[in-house]
Amino acid sequence: MIDYIIVGAGLFGSVFAQQATAHGKKCLVIDKRTHIAGNIYTKIDNNTGILKHVYGPHIFHTSDEIVWNYVNNYAKFSLFINSPIAIYKSEIYNLPFNMNTFNKLWGVVTPYEAKEYIKRNTVDFSTKRPKNLEEQAIALVGMELYTKLIKGYTEKQWGKPCNSLPASIINRLPLRFNYDNNYFCDTYQGIPKDGYTKMIQNMLTGIPVELETNYLEFAKHHSKLVKNAKKIIYTGKLDEYFNYCYGKLDYRSLKFEDKVLDMDNYQGVAVVNFTEKNIKQTRIIEHRHFDSKFHSSIDKTLISYEYPEEYRDENSEYPNDPYYPVNDKSNNCIAEQYKMLRKNVSPNVIFGGRLAEYKYYDMDKVIVSAIRAVKMEFGTLK
Ligand code: UDP
Repeated sequence: MIDYIIVGAGLFGSVFAQQATAHGKKCLVIDKRTHIAGNIYTKIDNNTGILKHVYGPHIFHTSDEIVWNYVNNYAKFSLFINSPIAIYKSEIYNLPFNMNTFNKLWGVVTPYEAKEYIKRNTVDFSTKRPKNLEEQAIALVGMELYTKLIKGYTEKQWGKPCNSLPASIINRLPLRFNYDNNYFCDTYQGIPKDGYTKMIQNMLTGIPVELETNYLEFAKHHSKLVKNAKKIIYTGKLDEYFNYCYGKLDYRSLKFEDKVLDMDNYQGVAVVNFTEKNIKQTRIIEHRHFDSKFHSSIDKTLISYEYPEEYRDENSEYPNDPYYPVNDKSNNCIAEQYKMLRKNVSPNVIFGGRLAEYKYYDMDKVIVSAIRAVKMEFGTLK
């Protein structure tokens, strides 16, 4: 007898499995991949000994003390302050958009000058709400900054023109009137010293995990086990669970190309964004900078070019992984239909995580959501 079958060994599933086990329940975790940890999977690169963020850079940041204390039970964190830079036509700009960026763009020095400049150069949407990302960006930062640092990057990342994307995407990008290049405003920031995989492994200690196991196949072959389980925790794609009955949801995927270079420092920073449309990569990640101290004795460097791609699902000839839900109106509408179905048809299934909730959210928010599910189920967090 298994109490909880957890589908997906990513962050949501692993937090839930750890907590259910702490509450004395029997859990089984299954995952269709060859490894645990979902998209936060990290591993030591064989050629260099550098800890690699296999599915792109993941920087843990939160202002929630409960979440921070929780993850610190399973990993020691190195402090890492994300200060990426952007390159547009060979010029370097600081991110997030702050006084350093404004100074470089417009020569303004004080916050007052920057605000005045923006006021003179932005479109006032106060009477009508910005309808899309383009309008939102121009309202926030004006045409020049939009053209140089937002438009190209965003259109590459999402594969759609900015005027057809939801304004909400740009809300992730902070705008500041100080000289602070710290990308995230959160109180606690860092990266697990031994990587995220080890953190997830620690959460899953003592819990059976079956890899390379597709849930629908598993359910077919173990129908009794599934039927007798108290609940299923499903963290896969929402639309796939319901056999795409309302149509397919859009996701955006990524492709990474790695290179080992015979030098100990290629770009001087972990993340460089390329904001021109005709440069294919959106970012270059230099993994050693996520923990410079840990990698200091290594004389090579590992870089990954990040290219956004169309998502190709499990039925296509060359499937890839879903990374980002595309939360525009039409997709959200379909997702809502599935969510209604979720309540009516599958009361003993808990849907959680980026894919099953169809939400573009950060790691800490995934944990918040998992903790909420734990409290609903067991009353307390152990
Ligand atoms: N963005 C941008 N220029 C940049 C970086 C980000 O215009 O140099 C926009 C883009 O629309 C992107 C959004 O900000 O989709 C969120 O970026 P973030 O870096 O937070 O995304 P993630 O790290 O989740 O890929």
